[in-house]
This record gives sequence, C-alpha cells and structure tokens, in this order.
Amino acid sequence: MKDKTLLRGQILGHLKLYSDLGVRYVGASASGSKPVARKPEKRAIAIPPAAKTPAPPAVSRIRVDTSMFDEVPSGEETLGAILDDLKDCQRCKLAPGRTNLVFGSGNPRAELMFVGEAPGAEEDAQGLPFVGRAGQLLTRIIESIGMRRDEVYICNILKCRPPNNRNPEPDEIASCEQFLFRQIAVIKPKVICALGAFGAQTLLKTTETIGRLRGHLMDFRGVKFMATFHPAYLLRNPNEKRKVWEDMQVVRDYLLSLRNPGTS
Ligand code: URA
Repeated sequence: MKDKTLLRGQILGHLKLYSDLGVRYVGASASGSKPVARKPEKRAIAIPPAAKTPAPPAVSRIRVDTSMFDEVPSGEETLGAILDDLKDCQRCKLAPGRTNLVFGSGNPRAELMFVGEAPGAEEDAQGLPFVGRAGQLLTRIIESIGMRRDEVYICNILKCRPPNNRNPEPDEIASCEQFLFRQIAVIKPKVICALGAFGAQTLLKTTETIGRLRGHLMDFRGVKFMATFHPAYLLRNPNEKRKVWEDMQVVRDYLLSLRNPGTS
C-alpha cells in the first residue's frame, strides 16, 4: 500500500514535469492492465526525442573523503542555534542591503537537501528560499521524484541577497559558508543537490562546468552529491529541463535504494 502511494506520487510528479516540458500526450503500452512494478521504469512514458549530448564524464575526479560531519560540533548543534548565531549578521558587505536574512526552509531531518546560490528579490522580501518563479519550478522538480517540498530542505550558499542578483563574491562566501556546512551537519542529508554552477563549484571547490559536473552522484565529504542546472537557468532554457529530470531520477533511485537495499 505504501509502495502504491509512493508510485502514484512518482507518476504524478513525472506527469507534472512532462507537462512542464511541453509534452501533451503520453502513450500507454498495450499491457496497461499488467500489475504495476514496484519501481517505475525510467522510460515507461514516451518522452520527446532529445538532442544528442555527449555523456557526462565519470565523476571520480572530485572526491573528498573526509566526513563533512567531523569538522562541525554536531552533538548539541541545532538549526535554531545556527540561526541564533547568524541573528543580525553583519559579517559581510551584503548585510546593509538585505530586508531579510534567508536561512533555509523545510524538513530538518531531510534525506535530500538542495543548495542554491543566494536569495533573489522575492526571497529577500519573504525571508524564505526559492519562493519566486524559479522556486515554483523547483517545487515541481521535487514533485517529479514523488517528494513534497516540505520533505526536503532548501537553502543557499549565501543567506543575504547580493545587489541586483549579481554573483556571490569570494569574501561573502568565506563569511557565509560556515553556516551552510553547519546546516548540513545538523540535517545530515543522504544527498545534497547543488542547483547551478555556482553552488556546485563553491561546494566542490572546482572550476569545472556544470555541464560536466551534472548527471552523476559524487561522493563528497561522506555525502552523495548531485549537481544540476539551476531552476532560473531552466526558465531561460526550457530545453534543458530534461537533463534536470534525468539528474533527479538518479537521486530518486539512490534514495529508493537506501530504503529498499538490493533493489537497484
Ligand atoms: N535562486 C537561488 O539560488 N536561491 C534562491 O533562494 C532563489 C533563487
């Protein structure tokens, strides 16, 4: 029954994302009355042909084996304590321009954690991450793997909005990243999904392009790590949604394999 509900959520999520991708028709196989497999086939629904892109390279290039959790005092640490430490943060030059600090939102015990870049105008106004148009698309991406937004945790590298949404600068990251690492240490996700080149490159300390980083789970400080395109990029380049969908299938399969060892 639980599996059925999970499967139903996954199928609905897929259909929502297909609809986003512009698909208006899905073919059903002749064996529609067959019992449903517990784990849905990745290609069970017809999807439009994609432009051929070279397979992303294997990801053994970036492998940091120290546990992320060794570096941070975890015993008594809570998200509330981290937020308390941030309080009216004046550690970098973004402080005077912010309306609200954007700490993060979602399930403090999430298996899946998304890390974006920095708050935009809407996030700054509301004090919540990913609540603008890109955030709405992120919600649909999460639902495409049969999860709800409140099941995952969402935050950013920077907690304050850079002026005119410019890229975060090194001194801002240096001041802020300790709070992200503390959040990760408290939440202990099974998978971290970095949204966009900036988040991925900052966390992995690499200049590799997102096109080469995405598509595979990496081992990163004792946590699985997936890099994928930023939803804001997808709004400008809707043809790339398919790749994010594929990346999210990898994440979903990994999380399912943890719940059902030996099934993948
Ligand atoms: N883009 C981000 O990277 N983070 C947000 O919170 C919103 C938009």
